[in-house]
Amino acid sequence: MRNESRRILAAFVLTGAAWLAPAPLEAQGKKVYISVDMEGIAGVNGDDQTSPGGAEYGRARKLMAEDANAAIRGAFEGGATDVLVNDSHGGQRNLLPEDLDPRARLISHTFKRYGMMEGLDETFDAILFVGYHAKADAPRGLFAHTGSGVVRDVQVNGRSVGEGGLNAVLAAWFGVPVVAVSGDDVAVEEVKSAVPGVRGAVVKRAINMRAVELRPLVDARRDIQSAAREGVKASTKPAPGRLPRYQVRMQFRNFTIPEVASAFSEMTVVAPDTVEFSRATMPEAYRLVRVLYRYINPD
Ligand SMILES: [Zn+2]
Repeated sequence: MRNESRRILAAFVLTGAAWLAPAPLEAQGKKVYISVDMEGIAGVNGDDQTSPGGAEYGRARKLMAEDANAAIRGAFEGGATDVLVNDSHGGQRNLLPEDLDPRARLISHTFKRYGMMEGLDETFDAILFVGYHAKADAPRGLFAHTGSGVVRDVQVNGRSVGEGGLNAVLAAWFGVPVVAVSGDDVAVEEVKSAVPGVRGAVVKRAINMRAVELRPLVDARRDIQSAAREGVKASTKPAPGRLPRYQVRMQFRNFTIPEVASAFSEMTVVAPDTVEFSRATMPEAYRLVRVLYRYINPD
C-alpha cells in the first residue's frame, strides 16, 4: 500500500472510531434509582392503608404513585435520562405500572435478594428514597419500624440504623450517593443524620406512631419534585465506601428468631433476643439481614 493510501485509510479509521466511541458523560445524562416505601407517603395516615385488604389500601397505592411520580419528574428535570423505580413496601407490589410516569422502569414483588435496594449497582449516579419512615423504637415517628415488626434494632459496625440508614450503607458500597429523601419529619431527620448533605422533603409531621399532621398534598409533592431535581442535578459520585468487614448485630422482639437463626454457622447468639454475624462485603451482609427479618417466621 502506498503512503498516500495509508494516510487516507488511517484518517478513515480514526473518524470511524470517533463516531463509534460512546458520547461524553454529560450527553448521556444520569441514571437514577428510586426506592419507594409507603408509610412516609404524603397523605398516608393509618394502618388500613398500608396492606392489601385494608379498606383504604387502594387509595394509598394511588398516593404512593403520586409521590413516586413527583420524584421521577424531579429526576428528569435534574438531568436523568434513565430512572428505575423499586417498589419497597410490604409485598412490594403496590405501585401499579399504569399509574406510574411512563418514562420509568419498575421492579415489583418482594422475593428479592436486596429488597428495598434490588436492582442497584455501581452504574447508577444518584438514589432517591421516597415515602420512608422512622426506625424501630424511635420515640416519635409514624409507623416506626425496621424491616418488619419483629426487629427491635439493627446495628452495622456498632451504629444503630433504620431502613434508610441500612440502605445508605449499601449505596455507599456501590459508590452511588443518596441525594434526596421524603417521609415524615422523623424519617427525614434520621436519613439526614446518616447521609450528610442529603436533601429532605418533609411531607407530614409525626405526632406519635399513629397520629400525624398532613401537609397539603400539592405542597408535599412539589417539595419531593424539587428535592429530587436539585439532588440529581448536584449529584457527583464518590469513591465506593467499602469497609474491611461488616459486623451486624440484630435484636428481635422475640427469642425464637435468634434460636432458629443459630442454624447459620456464622451466627452468634449473644443474648436470647440478639444475634451477631460478620461478612466481608455489605451486599452479603444486607442479604443476610433480610433473610433474618423476613424469611424466618416462627409464627
Ligand atoms: Zn413499608
